[in-house]
Amino acid sequence: MEFVVLVKQVPDTTEVKVDPKTGTLIRDGVPSILNPFDQFALEEALRLREKIKDRIPVNVTVISMGPPQAKTAIMKCLALGADKGILLSDRTFAGADTWATSLTLAEAVKKLGKFDIVFCGQQAIDGDTAQVGPEVAQLLGIPQVTYVDSILGFENNKITVRSLTDDGYRVVEVKLPMLLTCSTPSSFEPSNPSMAAILKANKKPFEIWTAETLGGDKSKFGLSGSPTQVSRVYSPPVRGKGVVYKENIEEGIKKVVEALMDKKVI
Ligand SMILES: Cc1cc2nc3c(=O)[nH]c(=O)nc-3n(C[C@H](O)[C@H](O)[C@H](O)COP(=O)(O)OP(=O)(O)OC[C@H]3O[C@@H](n4cnc5c(N)ncnc54)[C@H](O)[C@@H]3O)c2cc1C
Repeated sequence: MEFVVLVKQVPDTTEVKVDPKTGTLIRDGVPSILNPFDQFALEEALRLREKIKDRIPVNVTVISMGPPQAKTAIMKCLALGADKGILLSDRTFAGADTWATSLTLAEAVKKLGKFDIVFCGQQAIDGDTAQVGPEVAQLLGIPQVTYVDSILGFENNKITVRSLTDDGYRVVEVKLPMLLTCSTPSSFEPSNPSMAAILKANKKPFEIWTAETLGGDKSKFGLSGSPTQVSRVYSPPVRGKGVVYKENIEEGIKKVVEALMDKKVI
């Protein structure tokens, strides 16, 4: 059986700076990490592999699209227990919006030939759109369950998962092949690979795939394959401290009205 985990390398910060001239993100000097939701997705895949290994052998392949340094995130996944890593890296892939990203990832999954479960994080902590998982499922033509926080059962080519909703959760049974996006429960403690596992990871299969490897018309990838147009990127202006009126409520309202009239707001 083949499990595929889609992982993204993200900046280890919530304060991303924007180049005012180009409107692009300044990534230089910002340390990167494996997207935390994706580490949980990987660990779920590895836990399931462990659970069913006596009945069904499972191969776990990790795929990431990104610049060459995204290899670090894949190597961490290999050290945590994944069997094989594939980095989709090519200048042609640059500037991809979520659609072009999903299309590239879906083409790579198809190229693997066989896949049974595709694991994604619920969202990447930088882009935060949560669109890539559902888009990849749509492009692969397979069912999806989003916001999965636990796998409850696995038998006869179907999986039972717990999926979070606004009001609680639902239990869903799905036939394979399928895609799930993982929500990290608050109790999750991410594992850290041992030094021996890190060294072992260097001997595991790792490949770099380019647009040439995926084949077909290159204009479907990257910026040229992206229907989204970003007209402006900016950081929201820092808000002032504001004014606090500590008088009783009537006096306070009077002061607020006076202040608004002074500023000619009312
Ligand atoms: C017009 C436009 C241009 C852009 N140009 C660039 C650019 O030049 N450089 C750039 O870095 N970003 C660029 N982006 C942002 C980029 O499109 C998104 O970061 C990317 O599509 C993923 O979306 P997200 O971060 O919201 O992921 P989400 O949808 O929130 O991620 C959900 C899950 O999908 C999987 N996933 C997401 N991205 C990847 C990936 N790359 N590899 C493997 N798995 C993944 C992970 O499992 C993740 O947890 C651009 C966006 C737009 C709209």
